[in-house]
Order: sequence, then C-alpha cells, then structure tokens
Amino acid sequence: MNSLEFSKPLGSRPTPIPGMVLFDLPVHGDNRGWFKENWQREKMAGPGLPDFGPVQNNISFNETAGTTRGIHAEPWDKFISVATGSVFGAWVDLREGDTFGTVFTAVIDPSTAIFVPAGVGNAFQTLQDNTAYTYLVNAHWSTEATYTFLNLADETAAIAWPIPLEVAEVSEKDRAHPRLADVEPMRGKRTLILGANGQLGRALEKLYRGDADVDFRTRRELDLAAPEPFAGIDFSRYATVINAAAYTSVDAAETPAGRAAAWAVNATAVATLARACTVHRTTLVQVSSDYVFDGTIEVHEEDEPLSPLGVYGQSKAAGDTAAATTPRHYILRTSWVIGEGSNFVATMANLAGRNIRPAVVNDQYGRLTFTEDLAAAIHHLLTTGAPFGTYNISNTGPVQTWADIAGDVYELLGRPRDHVTGIPAAEYFADKPDTAPRPTHSSLNLTKLQDTGFMPPPARERLAQYLSARREP
Ligand code: NDP
Repeated sequence: MNSLEFSKPLGSRPTPIPGMVLFDLPVHGDNRGWFKENWQREKMAGPGLPDFGPVQNNISFNETAGTTRGIHAEPWDKFISVATGSVFGAWVDLREGDTFGTVFTAVIDPSTAIFVPAGVGNAFQTLQDNTAYTYLVNAHWSTEATYTFLNLADETAAIAWPIPLEVAEVSEKDRAHPRLADVEPMRGKRTLILGANGQLGRALEKLYRGDADVDFRTRRELDLAAPEPFAGIDFSRYATVINAAAYTSVDAAETPAGRAAAWAVNATAVATLARACTVHRTTLVQVSSDYVFDGTIEVHEEDEPLSPLGVYGQSKAAGDTAAATTPRHYILRTSWVIGEGSNFVATMANLAGRNIRPAVVNDQYGRLTFTEDLAAAIHHLLTTGAPFGTYNISNTGPVQTWADIAGDVYELLGRPRDHVTGIPAAEYFADKPDTAPRPTHSSLNLTKLQDTGFMPPPARERLAQYLSARREP
C-alpha cells in the first residue's frame, strides 16, 4: 500500500499560465493497489479545456530519482500525469504574447494531472526511483514539428529544482538550450481566409492586411470545386479558417451545371472543411444566407428550421449543417450583402448615374449587410471568445424592400426618389422563368450578436458612406 491521498475528489485549478489547468484525480485504493480514471473527457473537459481530443499516449519510464528532462514547448497540447512515482513539474510559457516567461511548478503524483497547452515549455524532475511519467497529446508526433527550448538553469525563470541540476541526471543537449532572452517565442497558429476575391473576402483582406499570421486564398489558388480542394493545406498550422468563398449565382444555380457547382462549393467542400477543422481543432467560420429559409416567417431567429426554396439556398443549408458538426464553429447568417464587387446597390447607383428609371421589387423585405461590418463581426466573435454557434448579422435600421433601398440610393445620389417604381416580385419575375425562388422575408433578429457586444451600424449610414466613397475618383 502506498501513501497516496486516496480521498481527493475530482477537481481542477487554474494556473498563472493561460489555458493550463491542474487536476486533482480521485485515486481509489484497496489491498490490491489502486485505480484511477486518468483522463475522463466528460467529467474533465470544461471551460478551461473545451475539446481536448487526444490521439497518442506516451510513457516515459525513469529509473532514478533526479532524472531531469529539459524545458521544451511543443506545437500540440499535452495532458500529463504519472502512473507510479512522482515528479516535480516545471512549466514556462514560451508563447508569443504578454504571458511569455510565466512560470508554474507543481508536484505531480498519481493523484494529480496537468493540462499543458501547445507552446508552453514543459520539464520535469523525478522525485522517486521508477517513475512512470505518462502523457496524452492531441496531434501525432511528427518530424516536421518545431519545438522551442529553454535552458533548465535559466536565471529569469529561476526554477527551484528540488535536486540541484549539478547532481541531477540531465542530457548534454538539455544543458545547451538557450536562456529566456535568446528564446524566439513560439508563434501562434495561423488564420486561413478562403474566397479572398469576393465581396466579403476583400473586406477581410482590408481588415487583416498587415497581419503576418493570415493567409489568403483566391479561387485560382484553392478551387473548392476541385476533387480534393484541401490537399495542399496543412490544417495543423491553422487555428482558424474563415470561409468567405461560395457559389453565389442564385439563378445560375438552378441550371444543371450550376446545381452541381453550387453543391460542390457550398456543401461538399464545406463538409470536407468541417471534417478537417474537427480533426485539427481549428475554428471554422462559415457564412450562411437568408436563402436557407423560405421567408414565410417575418424575422428569422438563428434556430429557425431550415427551409430553403432554391438550389443555392439548399446548398447553403447543407453547408450550414456540415459546418455545425465541427465543435469550434461560427456560422454567420447574413442577408443582402454589399461590398466591393457587383451587388444591388452598385447596380442601382449605376442606373441612377445613367438617369434610368427602374422598376424594383417592393414586396421582399430585409436589411442590407455591408461587408466591412460582416468582416468586423467575424473578427469580434473570434477575438472575444464568444460561444461557438450560429449568429445572425446584418446592418440595423428599418426593415426595407428592394424598392425602398433603391429609393434611398437615388435620393443619396441627388436623384428623385420617385424615379424608382415599386413592383411586386410576382410581376417582376413573371417574364423571367429561369430565376430562382426568393424568400419574401429576409430580416434577421440580431439580438444574439448584439448580446456579445457587437453593434452593427444602421444600414442607411453605411449606404451613404458607400455611395460617397464610390463617387470619389
Ligand atoms: P461573392 O460572390 O462576392 O464572393 C464569393 C467568392 O467565392 C468569390 O471570391 C469567388 O471567387 C469565390 N468562389 C466561388 N466559387 C469558388 C470555388 N469553386 N473555389 C473557391 N472560391 C470560389 O460573395 P459574397 O462575398 O457576397 O458572399 C460572402 C458569403 O456571404 C457567401 O457565403 C454567401 O453565400 C453569403 N451571402 C451572400 C449574400 C449576398 O447578397 N451576396 C447574401 C447572404 C449570404 P471568384 O471571385 O473567383 O469568382
């Protein structure tokens, strides 16, 4: 019988290193020995440890007390405990950022375990002979993985090793590692943005311009309709993928070729992407549409059952369903998107400039979404740690018809409002049999997004800015 404290209930304690969690494990002993649940996801995963999914279990056996293994940060998370014996564990945050150099130490015996996030330097010294040190990791070990090392004797970290390093068992390699001042902090994982040429893609490009940790891909560089679109992407390098790419030709999607293309890009590729993001614990940002609804309900909540009318909406709804399977996902459901590119406002501004008097649909209702606000909402959700899930996003202000918005465009461009004639959709589309069905009501309830602290500006304000920017040479 050993001297373990058998009565400890399961518990977790935060540490000064962000994301690192110390666990107390109940160890059940009797005259045969003891038993413990070393990692029990359902009980142990929590706010500090949302989705640790180990893929490899390693054991390091150490014959003598005083065996000391060097401080090394790895690009994957670790869950460490011991099966027999005990260790003095030392951890130093080697991630780029404010907490670089933060130190934490603790004794780990079978009744204790610690979760060490990627990028936190990890070292231990055995306190007993025959110590079996065991750890789970959530990525397979690879020769391509880059480690960051710190010297065990670093004066700034000043780790109080119970057995002095001079007499401890330390490898020559570990004795040669750099001091903290010479350590290149471990860079965070990157962000990948797909669809960089589209309206939203361009707004994201503006927002993230100059951020060296963001990669952009246009359709030419990564074709979502290709048989294996992500073959060239190493998802383990990415913390986040923002999918701004989509097949958006609503009417062309009704044709045989368009149907296949819309499904390939909006559904099949998103399902593949969601699977890759699940495996690599990558956050997936997917952009959805008011077209996933039939538009019979006036204001759409995030959890309204999907009811798409046309092929584009059906393919987007399939994409939403696939994206929602990945644990870390934000689905931003948006409507009537206006940015750099061809869109309704640009068309109306063009007609106004040519003094044309258009007939515009006056019985479909919704709100515009300017891409700079859509991009900002994505950035907000990602940086504030808002709960994963689906969020509606459009600009604010009154719900309008297309004819109302066209009137606003004319007015803001100094043309008479009444140069725009309202026309019911049924009449407008009567001689256009090849067009896709469109939802009558597209307005989105924004409360959930606003509750996270993101307040989209009024559409009218953005419309005025958009038109005046357009008029400048
Ligand atoms: P755009 O049509 O402006 O941009 C879509 C982008 O996707 C383009 O860059 C396009 O590339 C790219 N793309 C298309 N096919 C492929 C492919 N096979 N492989 C890779 N990339 C591809 O769309 P928005 O920016 O307006 O839309 C952004 C998101 O918002 C989409 O998810 C859309 O469904 C959604 N949405 C849009 C609305 C709107 O009114 N526009 C309304 C509601 C939701 P390329 O430039 O080379 O064609």
